[in-house]
Amino acid sequence: MESARIVVCGGGVVGLTLARELLARGEDSVAVLEKEPDVGLHASGRNSGVLHAGIYYAEGSEKARTCLAGNRLMKAYCREQGLPLLENGKVMVTASEAQLPVLHELHRRALAAGADVALVDAHELAEIEPHARTCGQALHSRETAVISPKAVMHSLRAELEAAPGARLLRGCRVLGRGPAHDGRRSVETTLGRIGYEVLVNASGAHADKVAAMFGAGLGYRLLPFKGLYRRLVPERTHLVRGSVYPVPDIRNPFLGVHFTRSVTGEVHIGPTAIPAFGRENYGILKGLDAEAVSILLRDARLFVHNPKFRSVALSEPRKYLFAAFFRDAARLLRDLRPEDIAPSAKVGIRPQLVDVTSNELVMDFVLERSGHELHVLNAISPAFTSSLAFASRLADRVLAML
Ligand SMILES: Cc1cc2nc3c(=O)[nH]c(=O)nc-3n(C[C@H](O)[C@H](O)[C@H](O)COP(=O)(O)OP(=O)(O)OC[C@H]3O[C@@H](n4cnc5c(N)ncnc54)[C@H](O)[C@@H]3O)c2cc1C
Repeated sequence: MESARIVVCGGGVVGLTLARELLARGEDSVAVLEKEPDVGLHASGRNSGVLHAGIYYAEGSEKARTCLAGNRLMKAYCREQGLPLLENGKVMVTASEAQLPVLHELHRRALAAGADVALVDAHELAEIEPHARTCGQALHSRETAVISPKAVMHSLRAELEAAPGARLLRGCRVLGRGPAHDGRRSVETTLGRIGYEVLVNASGAHADKVAAMFGAGLGYRLLPFKGLYRRLVPERTHLVRGSVYPVPDIRNPFLGVHFTRSVTGEVHIGPTAIPAFGRENYGILKGLDAEAVSILLRDARLFVHNPKFRSVALSEPRKYLFAAFFRDAARLLRDLRPEDIAPSAKVGIRPQLVDVTSNELVMDFVLERSGHELHVLNAISPAFTSSLAFASRLADRVLAML
């Protein structure tokens, strides 16, 4: 039987940064199991690439603890490794004066988190983002930056592959709990049985299913939401210098369709948060399986019991239609014309944890332990930003379990 002292299920940013942290602390037997032929083929390689800067998150939450620290660590990592990093900041603009109280609350949360933010008036906004529109005031975050998620993932993979104490097993899907042998637990995988002392479940959109294999996470279910993007045509990318975001509905975990200048100079618009019917349902039918029916039933239950989900389910699918998508985008930018927006192949799935007892969308990262396993549930945005700081907190837990 193959074995490692610490086995990590999932080669996304959470799994790879944890493996890196464990190796940096002297661990010499770490294996990462990834079901795909490469790392980062799901959320970690399909996101906006924004390094958030501690604006949105409730005080005391795991997100608030790790976002800003993660932002600074990821910037340092990109500089050290020579990876693309665009430090153009972000503005959050209001569509009406009714949004000003939320803007002020987010300003307060950001200051409490130690973020470098300022409220600016329309005149000051014009200096920062000349084409952005706002109603009265906007929030300027100087620390928000953009990286290339794929470049970061490839760099983390290369570090892991070069480390003597580490193994990356690709095409290795965890199928279930295996028998214990000689004091070691084991998992059954598509590459055979693998022994471990501690297993970390960092399997993203499948984290609830993997947790259930160990009798954990039973109070939760992950529901997939589709994040579609469009883009500005190349002649109009000058309309955006950094990132332009709306004031979100802070009762929900989604930030609203926004503009982001990427490290290649392309300006993405999105993502949406449209209820999807499969954990990897990237196309209309692509990635659908037998689970679609139970996802649909779960959506229907939430629709009935949760008014916040109901508003998302009613408003987001309209964004498949260009007119509704354009209306949202045009609230953020003056001078935006329908012909400025082109389709984009970029799409991601945002797996959102739902508490099945309260029917609430869970807002924070969740950690649950089952014996010798630690389950990372709900590693939603800003988990990419947070990852290097979150990895340190995860490593503390893992090492205490050995
Ligand atoms: C559209 C979109 C935009 C986003 N924008 C941002 C942003 O701008 N900034 C930000 O900070 N965050 C953003 N996020 C969130 C961020 O991308 C995620 O929080 C983060 O990537 C989660 O990482 P992960 O490692 O938990 O999951 P993943 O990247 O999904 O990795 C999990 C891995 O586990 C593997 N796996 C699953 N099941 C098994 C199994 N049984 N056996 C073996 N392997 C398995 C999967 O194949 C996958 O590779 C965005 C997300 C989306 C979808």
